[in-house]
Amino acid sequence: MAKINCSVTNCSHNKSAICYANIVNISGGAATKECNTCCDSFLDYKHYSNLTNNTNDSGPCDALVCSVETCVYNHNKACTADGIQVDSHGDEPKIYTETNCATFKHR
Ligand code: SF4
Ligand code: SF4
Repeated sequence: MAKINCSVTNCSHNKSAICYANIVNISGGAATKECNTCCDSFLDYKHYSNLTNNTNDSGPCDALVCSVETCVYNHNKACTADGIQVDSHGDEPKIYTETNCATFKHR
């Protein structure tokens, strides 16, 4: 299973619902719900086109940094979940704040 599965198909890093960014940053401060979190690495395909061939190792992303320390999976800004699911609030987000980490679980 890929480390980062993502339904945000209008992101430049997304190929077949898997993230191919070099690194993904999830943020959300003191989130209490998954909708308080977001993927800071989102880039709108309309502006950045397809970047899934630009990765260092051309494989799916397995580098994940997360600042949401209110999540049970967060230990020292690393995510200990086997994998995460990233979704969006609407069909095609225009800005990163419309995305979220659906795997978030409040401590
Ligand atoms: S929204 Fe985030 S997790 Fe999803 S493909 Fe883009 S960079 Fe990767
Ligand atoms: S599951 Fe929790 S620790 Fe992992 S990326 Fe999502 S919010 Fe961060």
